[in-house]
Amino acid sequence: MIDLSTYISTREKKVFAALGLGRSGLSAACALVKSGAEVWAWDDNPQGREKAADAGIKIVDLNDCAWDKVHSLIMSPGIPLTHPEPHPIATAAITANVEVICEVELLYRVCPKATFLGITGTNGKSTTTSLIAHILEEAGRDIAVGGNLGTPALELPTLNSEGIYVLEMSSYQLDLLEHLVFDIALFMNISPDHLDRHGDIQGYIKAKKHIFDRQTKPQAAIIGMDDDDSRNVFDQINAEGRVKTIPISGQSRLAEGVYVVEGQLIDDCFGPLTDIADLSAIERLPGNHNHQNAAAAFATCRSLGLTAEEILSGMKSFPGLAHRQELVITNNGIRYINDSKATNADAAARALGSYENIYWIAGGRAKEGGIESLIPYSDRIHRAYLIGESAGDFSAQLGNSIPHELCKTLDRAVKKAANDATADGLENAAVLLSPACASWDQYRSFELRGDHFKQCVTEFVTPLTSDDQEGSIAS
Ligand code: ADP
Repeated sequence: MIDLSTYISTREKKVFAALGLGRSGLSAACALVKSGAEVWAWDDNPQGREKAADAGIKIVDLNDCAWDKVHSLIMSPGIPLTHPEPHPIATAAITANVEVICEVELLYRVCPKATFLGITGTNGKSTTTSLIAHILEEAGRDIAVGGNLGTPALELPTLNSEGIYVLEMSSYQLDLLEHLVFDIALFMNISPDHLDRHGDIQGYIKAKKHIFDRQTKPQAAIIGMDDDDSRNVFDQINAEGRVKTIPISGQSRLAEGVYVVEGQLIDDCFGPLTDIADLSAIERLPGNHNHQNAAAAFATCRSLGLTAEEILSGMKSFPGLAHRQELVITNNGIRYINDSKATNADAAARALGSYENIYWIAGGRAKEGGIESLIPYSDRIHRAYLIGESAGDFSAQLGNSIPHELCKTLDRAVKKAANDATADGLENAAVLLSPACASWDQYRSFELRGDHFKQCVTEFVTPLTSDDQEGSIAS
């Protein structure tokens, strides 16, 4: 846990307000208390308050408190700062001239000498964050990985000037930074997601662009070039000229930068144009989207002084992440793939592009735009099984282009898909959960949805035959 005592002892005001007492909010409140701050904590949910009180945190109703005594409001990124409307407590703090920040900002204030890497984008944040952390760790660097992924910022170890924080950053967290400057900022891609929290796509892009705030040379901005909005962002940041920009692509040749063409990773940034490696041989990084993640990781790690050999060796030993095109089992030649993390159509498109003869399980709480953009994958989709509250709408969107049925629940969908795939006996068939939706209509998280899928697969699919394999991601 990060020790904030020196920081707090040098503040004139010693009260820190904490709004939102989920995992990261509670951890921030505990770190502050342990470091000698007076914490006034609040959560609109009585269960959150109870949990914090049990952990010895003082509960104060921030709807009615003495803001003149408060140094900062530490806000959980889950709580709206702007859209659909600002939380009244955030408004009260801002009106009283109290800064509103998140816990990652505090991490930076107490460990400013460490190197900070920030990774944002609509998709691929967790994979890229974990991949970079893995490569750096294998190369013997002193790293800590967290932020929006896994360990909350203030539970990470304290790092000195040799250390590197590898932080996945959501757009909400980026909205809540004041001083933090990323030594390397990665902006992966943009597709419509979380628009309810940002007003519209422009608001969403604006929030993500905060990753470049306060950067100057020799800091670096690594930007994906595989969608129009991100290319525009590259042009803007490049035109500003205040930071070194490195374009990356998982699918197209670029005039310069780090990119992948037909599986070949090419470095045209850190020296003369060099063919680095054939990524299609790395089975844990399948598809153009993972090639984009690999190009981003290469550009980052080369910027930090690693050799191409060190980076490749780390890529080859990367174990992959659960719930992202995770192979659960292969049975009777049918692969069962858990891609529960595909919570929007763009993410699902990546998985649909990676397999053939797909028995596709989709649905849940729909995102803007639904799944019409996925109809071009109809050649690959043998049949779709629709679940969750979006099932009716999705059925209308698929119309006659993709044969489908309404299953409502995941267990029914898995059973039907497994039966159909077994009866059809098609080559290279895949039963794929890639919902293109949030999970919240039926599950508390995408992880629980993915775990349920794995449980259903284990239950319904006949035991493995001797030549079947388990647990490796296929391309
Ligand atoms: P995030 O943390 O941004 O949600 P993840 O790494 O957890 O991203 O991946 C989420 C989903 O997005 C996965 O289902 C995966 O197939 C897809 N994905 C991964 N990387 C990319 C990328 N670079 N571009 C588009 N989609 C991606």
